[in-house]
Amino acid sequence: MLALNESELSQKIFEFSNDGIFILLLDENRIIDVNPSATKMLGYSRDELLTMRISDIHPKEMDLLEEFANQVLAKGAGWSNELTCKTKKGELLFVEVSASMITIDDQKYLISMVRNISCRKQIEAQLRMFSFTDGLTGLANRRKLDEYMDIEWRRAMRNELPISIIMIDIDYFKLFNDTYGHLEGDSCLKAVANVIQNSLVRPGDLCARYGGEEFIVLLPNTDKDGALHITNIIEKTLASERIENINSDINSFVTVSMGVACIVPNSKVTSSQLIFKADRALYKAKGEGRNKTICFLDSENH
Ligand code: GH3
Ligand code: MG
Ligand code: MG
Repeated sequence: MLALNESELSQKIFEFSNDGIFILLLDENRIIDVNPSATKMLGYSRDELLTMRISDIHPKEMDLLEEFANQVLAKGAGWSNELTCKTKKGELLFVEVSASMITIDDQKYLISMVRNISCRKQIEAQLRMFSFTDGLTGLANRRKLDEYMDIEWRRAMRNELPISIIMIDIDYFKLFNDTYGHLEGDSCLKAVANVIQNSLVRPGDLCARYGGEEFIVLLPNTDKDGALHITNIIEKTLASERIENINSDINSFVTVSMGVACIVPNSKVTSSQLIFKADRALYKAKGEGRNKTICFLDSENH
């Protein structure tokens, strides 16, 4: 068995740890030592790091470093947090930092263990993205819509601005599936989703898949005329795609029906009521023969 004394063991941990270790002399706010993992992580040589300050390494988080100073320096408590680190190449890494203070011969030292968590952060961001995305069409899903609606509804109420909803449903889509099969049905859904997405011009507009062959478009700061401008574009672009639905008795190509509702939000109505109103307008468009758009205004009761 390899016998190491305490100091040799500490040295081995310092040298071979996968985490970067920084040792600071607190009174002089100076890095006095770093381990090989720290130099590898940041791309600086040991000599370069010894001339740097902590704020050079975490340039984006001065406020957190202040919190850190209050907690670790003033109270002598340990501190850990997720921060970013700037590498020599200018790349930003996500890191988890755990810092604690030790006192040796009246000198205060800070030992900071830094772990690169960039991969984990990337996976987390991807999972977050997937949880807000419809798998088939790549559009936002209902969860994303609900979240976005909530934000935009409150913004519109604060600023007394109009907000519009377009509810879109593919006409005779069951017939389309029966005629061409489910896989073709899926391709058709993707094509219609693309048409809708590409018809939106403002970055704040959102298109979500609401159900099987139903889509919803949320248009912040948009009144009836603006919403009808978008439904016109959707209608024309879809017609130009010429996706056959040969057994439909209203058109030999795929069409949609649309219901539009607009409102300047106030405390007496909810966003669900606006969606319900757009749904009613869509229902009316279906009842009037499909392949058409019906718009209900704020002041109308249906
Ligand atoms: P309407 O004009 O009244 O809207 O009639 P419709 O046939 O479009 O409406 P209905 O609600 O009767 O049928 C919707 C169809 O959409 C039935 C369902 O099989 C199909 N559908 C729902 N989700 C998907 C999907 O993800 N892929 C495919 N291929 N079809 C789907
Ligand atoms: Mg439907
Ligand atoms: Mg339908």
